[in-house]
Amino acid sequence: MKLTYKPYTLELKHKFTLANSSRSTTPVMLTELEYEGITGYGEASMPPYLGESHQTVSDFLSKLDLSIFNNPLEIDSILDYVDTIEEGNFAAKASIDIALHDLVGKLENISLYNLWKLDKNKTPETSFTIGIDTKEIIIKKVQEAENYKILKVKLGSTNDKGIINTIRSVTNKPIIVDVNQGWEDKYFALEMAHWLSEKNVKLIEQPFSKSLIDETAWLNQESPIPIFADESAVRFIDLKNIVGCYSGINIKLMKCTGLAEAKKMIDYAKSSNLQIMLGCMTETSCAISAAAQLSPMVEWADLDGNLLINNDPFVGTQIIDGKISLSDKPGIGVSKRRNLDDKKK
Ligand code: MG
Repeated sequence: MKLTYKPYTLELKHKFTLANSSRSTTPVMLTELEYEGITGYGEASMPPYLGESHQTVSDFLSKLDLSIFNNPLEIDSILDYVDTIEEGNFAAKASIDIALHDLVGKLENISLYNLWKLDKNKTPETSFTIGIDTKEIIIKKVQEAENYKILKVKLGSTNDKGIINTIRSVTNKPIIVDVNQGWEDKYFALEMAHWLSEKNVKLIEQPFSKSLIDETAWLNQESPIPIFADESAVRFIDLKNIVGCYSGINIKLMKCTGLAEAKKMIDYAKSSNLQIMLGCMTETSCAISAAAQLSPMVEWADLDGNLLINNDPFVGTQIIDGKISLSDKPGIGVSKRRNLDDKKK
């Protein structure tokens, strides 16, 4: 098996603002694993606040020697080896996991969701993310999101109610909110939870810092709408601390090292009565289409990262009438876009 990789920079359609950061590009690494003339595609996405970069991913990938494996179907052994090379480097590890799964699907000529015996009719609708912005831009973004049935709104600024009121001036679609650890006071958070619930908000993601465990458990108990973990639920090992503290988790391939671990997390979450959202970073259609293969297993999807960029080098999973639509193509179901300039507008 031969690994190659190249750095790429995603251009965001809108400057992306969270509770404590703002940016207009995201670095990604595009990986390829080749075996007997077949190529699997993978990707690492590195939003700067998570600490990975073109350099760290390149350093990590250069340490791998996949020539010691003769058969890509030894997927568990290969991923165990990749995970033990270094601590951390979660997105870099995901780029191998995704390429390997794509390769295995192509070698067996089967899509991953079919390989996993999932029902493509059970895919959820995906939310579409509205970042923190001015009133005029928020309204423009909501109009651009016309085809999506659920909006995801970033809160945690000093104007949370204003943002929701602005959106409610143009649409009554259900909203899920992501506070990105932006709130500090539990009584303020509970008052917000009641107010948001009356505004047809369906859930609150990561209201407090991941260190505020007791406050989160209290809020989850008292809140009329469920509280989801994102930064608090990174890998499988974190899940035992989530049960009883949160009602659900947001699983992202770039946090949890890829499809193999995400699938394990979904199984555990289901057996622990946690609701599940599949989320993403800003990513190309490569990583998004990989995550979409698991989507028939979950209730919530926030797989819109590829919709927020101008220069997606892949074509993959489509969103039809707001719902994730899986193709029968093998592996993760992507092909390279022939002319990138066609997509740039
Ligand atoms: Mg989040």
